[in-house]
Amino acid sequence: MTSNAELFSASQRRIPGGVNSPVRAFRGVGGDPLFIERAEGAYLWDVEGRRYIDYVGSWGPMIHGHAHPEILAAVAAEMQKGLSFGAPTAIELELAETVCTLMPNIEMLRMTCSGTEAVMTAIRLARGYTGRERIIKFEGNYHGHSDSLLVKAGSGALTLGQPSSAGVPVELTRATLVLPYNDLDAVAAVMREQGDQIATIIVEPIAGNMGCVPPLPGFLEGLRSLCDTHGSLLILDEVMTGFRVAPGGAQELYGIRPDITTLGKIIGGGLPVGAVGGSRKIMETLAPNGPVYQAGTLAGNPLAMAAGLRTLQLLQEPGFHQRLAQQTEKFCSGLARVAAEAEVPLFITQVPGMLGLFFREGPVQSFQDVMGADKERYGRFFHFLLAEGVYLAPSAYEAGFLSAAHDDAIIDTTISAARKALQQL
Ligand code: PMP
Repeated sequence: MTSNAELFSASQRRIPGGVNSPVRAFRGVGGDPLFIERAEGAYLWDVEGRRYIDYVGSWGPMIHGHAHPEILAAVAAEMQKGLSFGAPTAIELELAETVCTLMPNIEMLRMTCSGTEAVMTAIRLARGYTGRERIIKFEGNYHGHSDSLLVKAGSGALTLGQPSSAGVPVELTRATLVLPYNDLDAVAAVMREQGDQIATIIVEPIAGNMGCVPPLPGFLEGLRSLCDTHGSLLILDEVMTGFRVAPGGAQELYGIRPDITTLGKIIGGGLPVGAVGGSRKIMETLAPNGPVYQAGTLAGNPLAMAAGLRTLQLLQEPGFHQRLAQQTEKFCSGLARVAAEAEVPLFITQVPGMLGLFFREGPVQSFQDVMGADKERYGRFFHFLLAEGVYLAPSAYEAGFLSAAHDDAIIDTTISAARKALQQL
């Protein structure tokens, strides 16, 4: 048998940090990562044969649980026809039509291979379309690892204490203004001064890369109206929230119209897909029709399209999101109850299918509030639960994800494990 420890030490010799994406290295919680052998439904199995209830869900895509038979079958059928053609296919159109139906603010979209690429394109598009260079982003929001967005970023950048990366030209970061999340006054003040130079305000409509921090009432509406006043474009980065919090994402949940939407994760059902979409007028500025260049050898890959399409079809079943919201509520209220019993301050945020755990008193509305949570305590909680067979995100700054496979029994088992863990904290 190969052990997690053996694989990790060998991997560290060939792959930086032993991982292909930083948060996987467990630096946020200490200890060594698990090497996963397989997954099914709400469960993961590591290479040592141990089973875990999974609240990471591959960081968001697995909204139907792992290895869903219908999604696997769709991919298998597509695979028989060949892996990649680098030419247009009918299934790309079918996925594009499905996305436009679910998100009526999107009239056209371009597929990419990751969320990072989708957002990178969205920013270039906003700059190309407006002829302006500056952008506004929010502290602790993560929009992938492209240069101009790795400024005070969330997710792994935050976990490693490197919210701004080495290797990014200062010139590029000068055009990125970073403001506090959920602080509309701060945005209004900057827009008053520089609104005519701002190409776009980009925001995670529900911040999901510093735990889960929902928008305060009026925040997104305020951004929309500031963009309208100053001729800037509003980008909603729905890589995480798209198709999760509602069939049409956070823009449906809160009734906010973005100019550009970025998608990832669920749109690929577990295979590498991202997308950037918006009105026909904006999207027509992309190559080959317009002057903003963007491309991808494997973009629109048929296997990835098949996984995404089946995933989006399945989540349109009646009651899907209501049930996901109910299960999230059951999980969060159960956790809150056992935390109160154990007299551990634990503030929990939730939206359908997604949650944040903050070891502190509430409320948690800003990056500063998130920083005030006890991350060592989160690390201890994480390891207690891991020993009990529950796999939470290996960082206090990541959201938790539920899937349709998280049924009552699985949630009850998790809450019992959490009760034990909280009493030992
Ligand atoms: N935007 C948001 C809101 C994200 O959560 C992420 C990834 N967690 C990205 C962009 C980047 O996506 P990817 O990792 O697929 O490049």
